[in-house]
Amino acid sequence: MKMISVVVPCYNEEEALPHFYKEIVKIAKEMDDKVDFEFLFVNDGSKDDTLDMLRDLSKRDDRVRYISFSRNFGKEAAMFAGLENSKGDYVTVMDADLQDPPKLLIDMYDLITKDGYDCVATRRSTRKGEPPIRSFFARCFYKLINKMSKTEMVDGARDFRLMTRQMTDAVLSMKEYNRYSKGLFSFVGFDTKWLEYENIERVAGQTKWNFWKLLAYAIEGIIAFTTAPLAIAAVLGVVLCLLAFILIIVIIVKTLMWGDPVGGWPSLVCIVSLLSGVQLLCTGIIGEYLARTYLETKGRPIYIIKETEKKK
Ligand code: UDP
Ligand code: MG
Repeated sequence: MKMISVVVPCYNEEEALPHFYKEIVKIAKEMDDKVDFEFLFVNDGSKDDTLDMLRDLSKRDDRVRYISFSRNFGKEAAMFAGLENSKGDYVTVMDADLQDPPKLLIDMYDLITKDGYDCVATRRSTRKGEPPIRSFFARCFYKLINKMSKTEMVDGARDFRLMTRQMTDAVLSMKEYNRYSKGLFSFVGFDTKWLEYENIERVAGQTKWNFWKLLAYAIEGIIAFTTAPLAIAAVLGVVLCLLAFILIIVIIVKTLMWGDPVGGWPSLVCIVSLLSGVQLLCTGIIGEYLARTYLETKGRPIYIIKETEKKK
């Protein structure tokens, strides 16, 4: 029989984990005539009792495996570790907080096995329950990144998806250190079917995202999937050169015709500060790309395992 690997990144999820386990076991039971399951939990350096719970679950249930990191490496690293260590013919990534309804797996599995898709992904149809200002910035972000990048980023796409082994291996073949999975999933191609559902609040515990983390994540995405911002310096440079030429001509003509009373100190200050601002901005953008390049060339591991269900 074929097997589905359920990869679950967990960071301080002691409150949500029992609910999640109960639900996913229920679904596994419903599908047990069709397919086997393996539940691969990745403990991303939790500071609460998540790891103890996972040890306990793996003792009681053979299908439960876990990987425990030596510290918090972030969800992207946890997903990568999960995909890399999964053994199933199909692989799915799910949040531990039940925001990704496990019952969708039944439809997803049918769509892949019967309709021949390589991947069934999910996106939320609305941004209800989200602060309006955050929705606004999210919309702007998707508009911007889709204009600049050739890789399509789907608005509201979640990480919850069921993939074939072939597609999983394609995603894993990208070993970059700065991982932006939304883009990586899209970059590999393959036939993807999108399912929509209404956003669900997490069952228990706290979200780990705040506005600044989301902003940093958005910048990460832009830098990972487009080099368009690097062209800003060139474009601004050309525009400013043209402007300077016009100004030079205006000033020469003015001086020849009316003489040159000394003045223009305020305008000079404005021009100098504007131009230094533009220069620093452009240097900053180059710096962001340079920093990513620096991190990539170091070739540091994406995650470090401290413990798994096999070696304690
Ligand atoms: N997560 C993780 N490492 C982190 C942050 C989050 O593994 O550093 C996991 C978390 O346990 C959850 C999933 O990623 O299973 C999504 O996190 P969260 O629910 O906080 O994000 P949201 O659903 O609010 O986007
Ligand atoms: Mg969540």
